[in-house]
Amino acid sequence: MSLLGTRTIADEFHAVALANPDRDAVVAAQGRRSYAELDAETDRIAVGLADLGLRPGDPVIVQVTNRLETVVAWYAMLKAGLVPVATLAAHRGHEIAQISRAVGARAHLVEAGTRGIDLVAFAHEQGRDHPTMHHVVVVDDLPVADIDPDEARKRVEEIQRGIEPDAIAVFQLSGGTTGVPKLIPRHHAEYWYNARAYADVLGWTADDRVGHLIPVIHNAGVVCGVHAPHSVGACLVLTDHDLDTAMPLLVAERTTSVLFGHVHYRAPEHPLYDQLAETLRVVLLSGAKVSEELFRTTGRGGAWVGQLFGMAEGMFLVTPQGTSVELRRETVGVPISPEDEVRLLEPGIETEVPDGEVGELCCRGPYTLRAYYGVDRPEAFTSDGFYRTGDLAAVRLLDGHRAISIEGRIKDLINRGGEKINAEEVELLLLSHPHVVEAALVAMPDPRLGERGCAYLSTDGTPVTLQDLRDHLHRLDVAKFKWPERVELVEALPRTRIGKLDKKAMTADITARLSGENP
Ligand code: AMP
Repeated sequence: MSLLGTRTIADEFHAVALANPDRDAVVAAQGRRSYAELDAETDRIAVGLADLGLRPGDPVIVQVTNRLETVVAWYAMLKAGLVPVATLAAHRGHEIAQISRAVGARAHLVEAGTRGIDLVAFAHEQGRDHPTMHHVVVVDDLPVADIDPDEARKRVEEIQRGIEPDAIAVFQLSGGTTGVPKLIPRHHAEYWYNARAYADVLGWTADDRVGHLIPVIHNAGVVCGVHAPHSVGACLVLTDHDLDTAMPLLVAERTTSVLFGHVHYRAPEHPLYDQLAETLRVVLLSGAKVSEELFRTTGRGGAWVGQLFGMAEGMFLVTPQGTSVELRRETVGVPISPEDEVRLLEPGIETEVPDGEVGELCCRGPYTLRAYYGVDRPEAFTSDGFYRTGDLAAVRLLDGHRAISIEGRIKDLINRGGEKINAEEVELLLLSHPHVVEAALVAMPDPRLGERGCAYLSTDGTPVTLQDLRDHLHRLDVAKFKWPERVELVEALPRTRIGKLDKKAMTADITARLSGENP
């Protein structure tokens, strides 16, 4: 029998809401909703969206931040049968124009009043001359149908009856390795199962209150922050990423579990952490190697501290309960589903590496993708359908588990505090600068974000400054998090014997320079 359910995400949420009507479903700085309230409100908004003319299957570009209304809009879209496309509020014309055409987006959901850009005006501008785009919807002003709640429920049920459990529910974006962002279709039953399996591994129940600080419309946000707590009737405590605004809410809401990405590894130093630690039961760390010190300080109130390795393509690895400090600290654990399969292969070929040796992490399982959307990328999969992650890993036999340690990556990207920057995409943009002859973007270590992008350039003789590059990328309307944060001008870029850019040499060079500058 399949582990996957047979309901849509909207129906799964409704069933949990019926079983837990009075419990908090979500709390944020903007307010709170019980399950019954969130369920009823999203029924009426779903009808409001349908009445705008939006039809089941219509993709919706989503550019919103971590706030109460985002969660409301999420379920309302799913109840209307719409397919959210998990773009970031930080994306700009360069990204949105391409993605919204690739999926044939029919609506653009944005937030008013965000810092630095008027996303509402941006969405209207993006909709001009767009072949499929019809509606701009503002998250703080969602269309609410003025009908009786029972009538709204009936309309939602009618819509949901027409959606198969293996239909596409959400599009996530892949960090990927090529210039064009790849779209990952996530389907109703497998996506909900991914979240439920994660909640079960962590032992969450309806009494849990789950803090979430990283962008909620990301895969980790949707799975770990929204669907997973809701799959067991628990409460999502949603905050923005700033610890100074997040911590008071996490403490006041007696948060029992939290996921800290690399940018939040400083959380235990926060003056309110001891108070938070009093209620914390489960803490997940994700995104970069975890030091012994971080394990100790994060768990100082008695919480169980483990690690998560996740990806929008599917596979989740999590520290199993009841395991040794060594396994918890040095590995990201084991797959969350009994049907998940992991193989470590030599890069580029299908030979398995022996246990203990480093190979490319390859995965297959009930919620891991089998193909990208709309593009044929056979090189991303093995001949028997394992997804090649581009991450390097090793199997460690510990406590009777085949636990996985992450050892690096072969894919060419920069992990800037959890946001992935595709090096090739930025390099092509830099090469379009009139004075740039060669360009390479490499990761430079950063204490807070983990990595940031450094551009190595050779030019036609005219010096190019960091500001010149930024002006250039600004003109091309590229998301700011992708802009290089340092530039190194060289006569010619270092190359390997076969003429490929020697990124290892450049990474070593910038790492040495930085440690020389900040000894
Ligand atoms: P995303 O699809 O944006 O969630 O990114 C997935 C990628 O993030 C993985 O393929 C890894 O490269 C990286 N990643 C995720 N979790 C971890 C972790 N715990 N440690 C190191 N890298 C990670």
